[in-house]
Amino acid sequence: GSSLAPLDASKLIITRADPAARPVPDEATACSGNETVCTDHMITVSWNSSTGWSAPELKPYGPLTLMPTASVLHYATECFEGLKAFRGFDGKLRLFRPDLNCKRMLMSTLRISLPGFDPAELEKLIIMLMSIDGPKWLPASRPGSFLYLRPAIIGTQPQLGVQTPKEALLFITASFMPRMDSPKGGMKLHTNPEDMVRAWVGGFGYAKVGANYGPSLLATNEAKERGFTQILWLYGKEGYCTEAGASNFFLVWKTPEGKTQLITAPLDDKLILDGVTRRSVVQLAKERLADELEVVERKYTIDEVIQAHKEGRIVEAFAAGTAFFICPVSQIRHRDVDVHIPMAQGDVGEYTAKIKQWMANIMYGKEQHPWGVVV
Ligand code: PMP
Repeated sequence: GSSLAPLDASKLIITRADPAARPVPDEATACSGNETVCTDHMITVSWNSSTGWSAPELKPYGPLTLMPTASVLHYATECFEGLKAFRGFDGKLRLFRPDLNCKRMLMSTLRISLPGFDPAELEKLIIMLMSIDGPKWLPASRPGSFLYLRPAIIGTQPQLGVQTPKEALLFITASFMPRMDSPKGGMKLHTNPEDMVRAWVGGFGYAKVGANYGPSLLATNEAKERGFTQILWLYGKEGYCTEAGASNFFLVWKTPEGKTQLITAPLDDKLILDGVTRRSVVQLAKERLADELEVVERKYTIDEVIQAHKEGRIVEAFAAGTAFFICPVSQIRHRDVDVHIPMAQGDVGEYTAKIKQWMANIMYGKEQHPWGVVV
């Protein structure tokens, strides 16, 4: 109803942690343990169906309290986002297209019947958290470093029974995350077992809900046991290529006619996540590589990929996402067939390298671009 309070970043209540209490570890130390190292503060905002959103609170990072009967713990009423904050080589702190993450968060939120909000207010909260923790945790003395921001919403109503939660909690943390964009020898993908799919037409694969991720571990672990990095998720009896692990998947190939194409799965069937990195790759390639290749978003099958490989038409492949950034793919195994992908220039293909560099330049302020939002 109209009497419910909207999410309002200007109401933020700040309770500061003692800045001396926790020193900032170096990246390697921070990423070596079994617990994600978060910054001094987090933001929480609670919601209930009779009053709406409470005043957001920025407070010392620490545990949440939930009743064992909380909706999220039983019915996966949860969704989340992932974006990075970058310390630029010009000393400035930037987010990369955070408006897209905030809009996607709203889309996911509504998909699991949690309360809506103005995405612009979420973006303001993310910026406020970074403006307070950024100077200490992403010091200007460490240009080229980043933090990972994790906004999430959970249904907290302590009542069993499958129903729309009348209480919810939005929270935002900032943390260290290892760099994953250049594994030695490239990323190796294994297609999913025939009886395990990630998403389906009419499902929710396009939403960033926790329920998409836990069940993917079984297939991923099998692939890892065989020495592969991630699953290349195929869909349908046709074997359409969709996504690689929790990232979008791109191929550069030659068509049988000899035309160079950058190809990736389309968004139409709502099978894949509308990745911020994916969108950016598509847009940059259209703007800056138009003379060299054609950008194609269409359904394509693993059989087409295998055929192209047999005919020597595969040029490059890469995974694209916030966590993996732009990560070259060197191998795809489908059943008993191996597709080995040539990687020029040592460990990364020419087009992959160009696109990656353009994106990094925007993220770290070497190129001034509207996608780089200064905090
Ligand atoms: N696909 C899935 C399933 C993901 O979880 C992610 C990570 N958010 C991506 C693709 C890549 O999206 P983005 O570029 O926005 O990180």
